Amino acid sequence: MPHNIQAISTDHSGLACVIDKYPDFCPVCHTAVEVKPLGTMILRKDADEHDYVEMVFRCPRQDCDHFFIARYKSIGGTGAPRPELALCDVVPRTPLDPQFPDTIEKMSPRFVRIYTQASEAASRQLDEIAGVGYRKALEFLIKDYLIHSTDDEEQQDKYKQTALANCIKDHVSDPKVKLCASRAVWLGNDETHYERKWNDQDLRDLKILLQLATNWIDSELLTQHYGETMPPK
Ligand SMILES: [Zn+2]
Repeated sequence: MPHNIQAISTDHSGLACVIDKYPDFCPVCHTAVEVKPLGTMILRKDADEHDYVEMVFRCPRQDCDHFFIARYKSIGGTGAPRPELALCDVVPRTPLDPQFPDTIEKMSPRFVRIYTQASEAASRQLDEIAGVGYRKALEFLIKDYLIHSTDDEEQQDKYKQTALANCIKDHVSDPKVKLCASRAVWLGNDETHYERKWNDQDLRDLKILLQLATNWIDSELLTQHYGETMPPK
């Protein structure tokens, strides 16, 4: 529903504007909310000299209660008596932490930490950094998976010192984990090298392969757990 507002420009002059709608979700807690502006509406000009308004809102949910800013940009030409503006962004966008099964969280807390940071980078459109982060997360996932599979400390040290691709080729025995992890390494290496080899795949494919690898590892560890804790009677 459109709303008439009185925006204040940075030189303290006022201007009546029409905005197309208020935000209908909170970018901090990612919940649908009904909000009212808190009264601060700042009018600026963007690089093309079009009107641009920022309005402050507050999430009505008690367990969130954060302020956030809705950004509106002009959808008409300049010089109109009552400029019309459309909602174009709501900030700060706080990414939701990716969720992993307990088995993965216990087996490799570093993987979860690095993956979460990579996801945050991706959500901020820092795709060049996110790819490197996902590649690092993959290394911790696979090496911790191998380290978890043995009590032999000497072997564990070998896993830590061996290149990831060789760890997967020589030591990962589950064919599904092996398939996903090896493809993830290929795409992950593309994120860290100057030239790409896999031009038809991108960060989304790398994330899918990482998700698949964690799913297969989770299934294997859970199956192993019930095999060990529930021997035949
Ligand atoms: Zn909220």
